[in-house]
Amino acid sequence: MYREVTTTVCIRLHSLTQRKEFLLSREYSEFQTAVQDGDADIDLYSATSQQADKVRSNKNPRSDTTQPVVLRNDCITIEHDEETFLSEWWFKVPVYDPNRGQGNSIWCPAIVPDKHESLMKDEYISDSELVHEDGNWYVHLVCTRSVAVSEEYDDVLAVDMGAKWIAVSTFLSDRDTAFHGKRVRDVREHYKQLRKSIGKAKVRQGAQVIQRLGDKESRTVEDALHKTANEIVARARKRNAVIVFGDMTGIRFDNDKRRYVNDKTHKMPFAKMANFLTYKAHLDGRECLPVEEYDTSVTCWRCGSQNTNREVQGRIKCHSCGLDDNADKNGASNIGQRAVGKTIQSPLSAAGAVVAQPKTQIRLKGPDDETESANSPEDVGLSFSEGSPRVHSWE
Ligand SMILES: [Zn+2]
Repeated sequence: MYREVTTTVCIRLHSLTQRKEFLLSREYSEFQTAVQDGDADIDLYSATSQQADKVRSNKNPRSDTTQPVVLRNDCITIEHDEETFLSEWWFKVPVYDPNRGQGNSIWCPAIVPDKHESLMKDEYISDSELVHEDGNWYVHLVCTRSVAVSEEYDDVLAVDMGAKWIAVSTFLSDRDTAFHGKRVRDVREHYKQLRKSIGKAKVRQGAQVIQRLGDKESRTVEDALHKTANEIVARARKRNAVIVFGDMTGIRFDNDKRRYVNDKTHKMPFAKMANFLTYKAHLDGRECLPVEEYDTSVTCWRCGSQNTNREVQGRIKCHSCGLDDNADKNGASNIGQRAVGKTIQSPLSAAGAVVAQPKTQIRLKGPDDETESANSPEDVGLSFSEGSPRVHSWE
């Protein structure tokens, strides 16, 4: 089966002649006017003019913001030409040409990052954006393509995203668990303290420094999310596992943006993490599915009881069966079990572990290629190789 993967590649336009620079600037500023004032008398490339109307009605942008010019996919092209001295890559931008009194296209020399050269194909290019920043022209080229993902797996890697760790991942077959990422909370706390001390020391420059710290903080967090997503995908690859993750309340998939968006403000950027993970898994040829996360943190993974408590930090205790487990590991186990379509209250059956998903079904291969339940209370808990010193055997 196939999944659509989208990569936004930032390419820089360079060595522009005065005429091209003028036409880009002109198009850019006319676009701003069109976005702010729909009735204005403007001259834009016709397809771009329609995009301006869309931006105005969909985003209703504030007057003190600038909006990137939306370039419709059928009006843009990128070409490779090694023969040209000036540039290897050329990007065609649609603009209104006042001299001709009509739409025109200009070819601009472009710099494409090496690692994304393979994406520079017309059939991949979706609607993209022209951005003007620090005197430079960039195109945020949106490249969408289909990648094949496997339908058969040998295990399930369940991911619980948390406030304490970025994520905890547990294999359903033997509950082998890894704790990923620096504690996001520690990073947040570190910057919060820094901001506080700066705010006190220098009132005047404080605001600027704090802004810079904010940027640095979000970069640090973003790096950690990328690293975590890479680790999880690598782990899944080792065992040929399908990845499932707990879907936080407030996360929904936005079809227009082709990614998960978060309507609520969380301290942990769950939606971003979900997007990174899904993207990287699909590129790896691996399915990655959201699972509803409600109750997974208060339910005992072993017996399904909700008669539990979490009085000891980071632990969960079950009053029904006596489980004493790492709380995140317990949550991830529940997510994994839910993914294979079992109600965890009912006895585990050998009915076959099938992840139901609209249009697709994933089969979990058991021994001898027969489908079987990937987990049972008797055969798990044998392996404890997780990295946390705080985790003890639950027996
Ligand atoms: Zn229990």
